Amino acid sequence: MSELHPLTDANTYVSVILPMAVPKPYTYSVPEEWVSKVQVGVRVEVQFGPKRQYAALVLEVLTEAPAHKTKAILSVIDDTPIIWAKQLRFWQWVGQYYCCTLGEVMHAALPANLKLASETTITLSPLFDGDILELEDKEYLIAEALTIQHELTLEQVRDILGIKTIYPLIRDMLDKRLIYLKEDLKEKFQPKTIACVRLYEPYASQPETLELAFEKISKANRQVEALMAYLQLARGKDYVRREDLFKMAKVDSSVTQAMDKKGILETYQREVSRVAGYEDEVVEADILSTQQERAIAEIHTQFAEKNVLLLQGVTGSGKTRVYIELIREAINRGEQVLYLLPEIALTTQIISRLQKVFGDQVDVYHSRLNNNERVEIWNRVKEGKALVLGARSALFLPYQNLKLVIVDEEHDPSFKQQDPNPRYHGRDAGIYLAQLFDAKVLLGTATPSVESFYNTQAGKYGLVKMEERFGGLQLPEVEIVDLKKAMRAGTMQSHFSVPLINEMKATIDRGEQVILFQNRRGYAPVYKCSTCNWTCECIHCDVSLTYHKGQNNLKCHYCGYQTQLPKECPACGGKQLIVQGFGTEKIEDELKIFLPEAKIGRMDLDTVRSKNAHAKIINDFEEGRLNVLVGTQMVTKGLDFDKVGLVGVLSADQLLQFPDFRAGERAFQLMLQVAGRAGRKHKRGKVIIQSHNVSNPVIKEVLDGDFRAFYNREIMERQEFFYPPFYRLIRITLKHKKPEVINAAAQKYGNFLKAKLGDRLRGPAVPYVGRVRSYFLLDFLVKLERNPKLIASTKDLIAAAEHFLLQEEGYSTVKIAVDVDPM
Ligand code: ADP
Ligand code: ZN
Ligand code: ZN
Repeated sequence: MSELHPLTDANTYVSVILPMAVPKPYTYSVPEEWVSKVQVGVRVEVQFGPKRQYAALVLEVLTEAPAHKTKAILSVIDDTPIIWAKQLRFWQWVGQYYCCTLGEVMHAALPANLKLASETTITLSPLFDGDILELEDKEYLIAEALTIQHELTLEQVRDILGIKTIYPLIRDMLDKRLIYLKEDLKEKFQPKTIACVRLYEPYASQPETLELAFEKISKANRQVEALMAYLQLARGKDYVRREDLFKMAKVDSSVTQAMDKKGILETYQREVSRVAGYEDEVVEADILSTQQERAIAEIHTQFAEKNVLLLQGVTGSGKTRVYIELIREAINRGEQVLYLLPEIALTTQIISRLQKVFGDQVDVYHSRLNNNERVEIWNRVKEGKALVLGARSALFLPYQNLKLVIVDEEHDPSFKQQDPNPRYHGRDAGIYLAQLFDAKVLLGTATPSVESFYNTQAGKYGLVKMEERFGGLQLPEVEIVDLKKAMRAGTMQSHFSVPLINEMKATIDRGEQVILFQNRRGYAPVYKCSTCNWTCECIHCDVSLTYHKGQNNLKCHYCGYQTQLPKECPACGGKQLIVQGFGTEKIEDELKIFLPEAKIGRMDLDTVRSKNAHAKIINDFEEGRLNVLVGTQMVTKGLDFDKVGLVGVLSADQLLQFPDFRAGERAFQLMLQVAGRAGRKHKRGKVIIQSHNVSNPVIKEVLDGDFRAFYNREIMERQEFFYPPFYRLIRITLKHKKPEVINAAAQKYGNFLKAKLGDRLRGPAVPYVGRVRSYFLLDFLVKLERNPKLIASTKDLIAAAEHFLLQEEGYSTVKIAVDVDPM
């Protein structure tokens, strides 16, 4: 490829965002032929660095030449912008607030199909069954190469075609689904297909020849029926489902097979979108309860004055029905609505509840879609589609008329992205996004985050409460079991106390179900030598390996490292190796002994890995095929079961002891959330919580279900120790594979910041897990008063510190992660 760039005497330029962590937008010139097509929000094909091309996004169209020399763009990829000005402003806010580059935001925001780069790898669609000879020239060349080589990078495509500009063509082929991104095929995303029927040639394109077809089958009545039905069904349609044909003509596949043999009607597989296509009937939403009516009226009143409301409703109070009403009102006004949930709470339960009422108007945007499907939703939202249900990445969809954002389970820490940049919080970013659109925000939860509740007390947010369960059902009765006492009395049966065992048996005997919560997966978190106390640790991380009995190995939950069980202690040669602690797998195992008759299911990361496993476990439990469900915090989220008589928390201690200022808050939320799964619908349920520390105030607050008591105590501690919501936190983590480098780097980096921040900077300190994936970690914590100027200047300073450190000799390989409002 030529390295010379056409000399342009252009007078149009664009500044573009590249999908990577470069600090600033880049400027390119626009050759005459593309001038009429460039506009803000379209993608352009550009060269960056000596050899690489990218799809970059136009941030501004400029008429003045920049001071430096520019390259020319290679092409304009889109005919219309893929995002609007408001999304760009949102990106800019995310970048500034969460201390990352616009390129990193772009990378997070766009589905992979919209992010083409030299190394992007394509394959031929597995469903392409047309004749490649019928494709136009360049498409043909690509398709042919792909049938031979299976996959090509865009770099290779460029070489094959021998032209500079290929992205508009690639975009087109992706749109037509001739090609796929390789990542879609190697992952679980098999396209969903349905069997369809169509006419063979010449009948398809020359209707006058149909007479011949009828003649051929004139002796087969059922085939004639089928052909007539087909013609009727095909009217004005792109495709005819074989199923519909069967129904209308009252025939089965023997008939269509016969017609296929005669060259009349062909059966083929057609890809359908998982996105659209809700086919059941839409039904009226339930009649509102008085409490729901009152809540809705209050929400309306308060929205007149406040833009953000917190709906605090106990589990089972019927918040979803309230959302449905507000969504309906918004849709009737022609407005767009975003309903945000933590990813794991996006279960078929909630999806089908909304689809029942809104049918095809719901689009669900989450990580299990393939990229084609994402782009499909992207385009529908751009065209003004009404309701998106999604995880935090749905914030980036190209809304035009967003007027309502619902953040359900607003307290859930998994709204925060941990890694990579942008480390944004779905709820908080949602509130900013809503502001851009002049939209209202409704935060819903049974257990508000301390921050959000504080905002209601400070008058910033409104507060609406729903204190009763739907149908007047009582909240579950909570019982605390003192494990210290039980141990002393010698009544424990492994990890189960007598009250828990007895209550489980009684519950199952009554035909009700049990949920057991243990926030740790695997069999046991520690595998050690009983003689010398040596413990088996990860070779890449400073954590002990978890024993997984099913796979009979030891695993690191931080990096995925796995190893066989040692036969003897490598330190002392002892043969007595034992496990310590317990996870969900062990609980499941032991239950089989204590409750030999019961059918037991387990829901944790290990059991929901495979496709649809999550939905299957939920479904098995819903349909009563399981008596007991053991799980990690997955069982606390977004589930609504009818027959749960008992919820058991095996160990509250492990939640309470976590070394973080939010440990108490998390423990309170998790325990109340899991308790809320008990006794929904018909009957009061029971909750048993086992703990060694029954005097911990959180235990008492959970026992009383007393959020106010919890909040009042917690907020005082937060104030006293300079924590949010009174102070803002920014955590900075330095990483390097060599301890001497990281230690020295942290000194330099720390001194740089310390000079300006003084006591506002804490650290460096080794975090709870001091080495992960062979990287040594050191943490800094910045605590800032809530002064916008101070916060902004500190973020600039943090950027400057990074720049300073990476330029120092020997430190360019240090990785720096900045986490604003860490969770
Ligand atoms: P929350 O989200 O507040 O925990 P849900 O919305 O899940 O509560 O409602 C609890 C239960 O009550 C659900 O099973 C739901 O179907 C039922 N429910 C709520 N509102 C109504 C209503 N107006 N009519 C009939 N059933 C309702
Ligand atoms: Zn030993
Ligand atoms: Zn590890």
